[in-house]
Amino acid sequence: MRLLSVYFIFMHLIAGEGVNLPLVIVTWEYPNATDKAYGILTSGGSSVDAVEEGCTFCEDYPSKCRYSVGFEGKVDENGEATLDAMIMDGTTLNVGAVGGIRRIKRATTVARHVLDYTRHSLLVGDQATDFAKDFVGLPEEDLNTDYNREVFESWKDENCQPNFWMNVQPDPTENCGPYSPSDQDKVVNLKETSSPSNHDTIGIVAVDSVGNVASAASTNGLNHKIPGRVGDSPIPGAGSYADNDVGGAAATGDGDVMIRFLPSYQTVENMRNGMDPKTAASDALRRIAVKYPQYMGAVIGATNDGEYGIACYGYEEVQYCTQDPKSGGPYCRDVTCDVTTSTSACLQSIALSWWISVVLISASLSAHLF
Ligand code: ASP
Repeated sequence: MRLLSVYFIFMHLIAGEGVNLPLVIVTWEYPNATDKAYGILTSGGSSVDAVEEGCTFCEDYPSKCRYSVGFEGKVDENGEATLDAMIMDGTTLNVGAVGGIRRIKRATTVARHVLDYTRHSLLVGDQATDFAKDFVGLPEEDLNTDYNREVFESWKDENCQPNFWMNVQPDPTENCGPYSPSDQDKVVNLKETSSPSNHDTIGIVAVDSVGNVASAASTNGLNHKIPGRVGDSPIPGAGSYADNDVGGAAATGDGDVMIRFLPSYQTVENMRNGMDPKTAASDALRRIAVKYPQYMGAVIGATNDGEYGIACYGYEEVQYCTQDPKSGGPYCRDVTCDVTTSTSACLQSIALSWWISVVLISASLSAHLF
């Protein structure tokens, strides 16, 4: 692998690619959040400031972020919106995060205070709310809106379908709770809880003009989650990961599965071992898909010198946005999900890049010799 890394660095140098920094990359089509984060970088803010502001934009304006981030849109089985958020500083590898925070809108700002003012990494639930009120000075607010109430009522009208229960009685695929453990036949609940519209966490990586990396994620989680559920977004290595020595990554998708695989960490480790960001993210997702073929998710990755990519699995396509000195504004596009469970696809992509390199080296040598 070390040889592979040296090789990739060498290829990067001989290809003469310039460093294109600062850079912001964001999951889904969130151009305002991208622009907000980029503006922080270009006005002298740090990469940590940038990722905080990008997420805060979505928390303040959930309607601009597909109602999947912030106080409005997704509610738990009690009809309450609770938020998960994290920030990771690639300079120190320090993390601040909150899980299942209640009645507070700016979850990422609370995470930032955990990062800056405590030696902890993750605060949860009502006590995270107390920290937000007493230490951060944020207002405690009722996060219920007419839209939240509508989402909750129509779910109840559908017999609480879908939901996240299994092996309980009454049969969760047809009934609302309360449930109790089933001591009879196991009741497996394969009803579709995943859909593109149930997975729109903002994940963000920012790299400042000298290569300092930060990452963040913020979400209201999954619709109709069981109260108390915390997803991947506040978990370091799952929701996001950053290390100045390499770069950063952030994830969106089925968090209950991603927590088990740490795809953001895996993507950064893959980049450390020489893979480009897209190949690195594809490999991280392939590892999940092999064990959970029904899984849906996407990972963005960026290196500390501004190379970036995205991979996705289970959706037809996903969107992402970037902003850098060349883009002239937030640049969002669709990507077709092409991760497969076969390792050969990954090996083929490495083989292809070796082949292209051999051609480039030959061309470069010929140009010098003749
Ligand atoms: N990853 C999030 C979660 O499971 C969902 C999402 O990406 O929207 O909480």
